[in-house]
Amino acid sequence: MDIGKTMKKINVTQSLLPKLEDYVKEIETIWDSHHLTSKGSKHQELEAKLKDFLNVQNASLFANGHLALEAALEAYQLHGEIITTAFTFPSTAHAIIRAGCIPVFADIKRDDFTLDPASIEKLITNRTVAIMPVHVLGQVCDVYAIESIAQKYNLKVIYDAAHVFGVEIDHKGVGQFGDVSMFSMNATKVFNTIEGGLLTYNDLSLTKQFELIKYYGMESAESIIYPGSNLKMNEFQAAMGLCNLVLVNEEIKRRGMVVKTYLAELSRIEGIECPIYKDNIKYNYAYFPILVTSKINRDEMYQKLQENGINVRKYFYPLVTDFECYRNQYSADLPISKFVSDCVICLPLYGELTQDEVKYIISTIKGLLNE
Ligand SMILES: *Cc1c(COP(=O)(O)O)cnc(C)c1O
Repeated sequence: MDIGKTMKKINVTQSLLPKLEDYVKEIETIWDSHHLTSKGSKHQELEAKLKDFLNVQNASLFANGHLALEAALEAYQLHGEIITTAFTFPSTAHAIIRAGCIPVFADIKRDDFTLDPASIEKLITNRTVAIMPVHVLGQVCDVYAIESIAQKYNLKVIYDAAHVFGVEIDHKGVGQFGDVSMFSMNATKVFNTIEGGLLTYNDLSLTKQFELIKYYGMESAESIIYPGSNLKMNEFQAAMGLCNLVLVNEEIKRRGMVVKTYLAELSRIEGIECPIYKDNIKYNYAYFPILVTSKINRDEMYQKLQENGINVRKYFYPLVTDFECYRNQYSADLPISKFVSDCVICLPLYGELTQDEVKYIISTIKGLLNE
């Protein structure tokens, strides 16, 4: 079958959407109440439901994930160095800089692309105030090792958990680890509220901090106690979240089936490395990154797949440290990050990807490698 020529491009992901009539029904009550934003009933309902769904202690909604990450740093009033990864979306490092801190880039592990605890520990100085690891591409960090480093050096741990909505480690929600975790609910993520972010945390006293940052530092109409911002999620976003929350388990199940097929067909091929899945982790199958280590290199593979109508992505290339606005400003020794960034391709992955499309992607890759 030649999908590349006869069908539209296969995208790397496709936003989860409810049936239109279900969304319309969900937003009808907004017309009854005329309450469009600011702690409306949809917002309250979604916040409570997400707390349960994600199996976390506390949860606070935001307009988007990036602003939520900035708010997490602002709540702790951190000043100094924050150790993070260069193999991530720009948002992670930008949030550190925008909060007035300095990013320090540690290297990642070859097997799951998350921060290498040994590399973190080497970079700790008396200026280090926190660690911001990323549960990258649906894989989880070595949370236990990171926890013991944080305890040893008295550091905050703020996870960028943008890619791990619904993931559990040893039957605990991934958002229970560290001091704060940020989940993105942007349209391209496994679960979306169109745009949206969520902070999860164990320390209940952070709730008030987050509310002040989110709502102009307003304690009551006439009592403004902090120069806060406006980071509120509105009722239409929350309504989308309520509709998609009903669908997300099925979405994850379907993604899991696509992953099973990819693994069965690609994992033994010379020149391709597939992700590793561990028994103690419940995954959300957010992405399917492969490393291309064959004679045809990553860029050639990328080009050929694009030409064949398969819209794969180089997540994450270039490294953050190679962006124009970061280059030559941060000394960073990142051989594994560089290797992974130079070899990685994320294959299409979403619930509605058909078996025919998956087979077409696999046979195209095999064809390129003469398998
Ligand atoms: C998507 C993403 C963000 C930002 O989230 P938004 O909701 O899009 O603002 C931050 N970090 C990572 C790793 C992401 O992929």
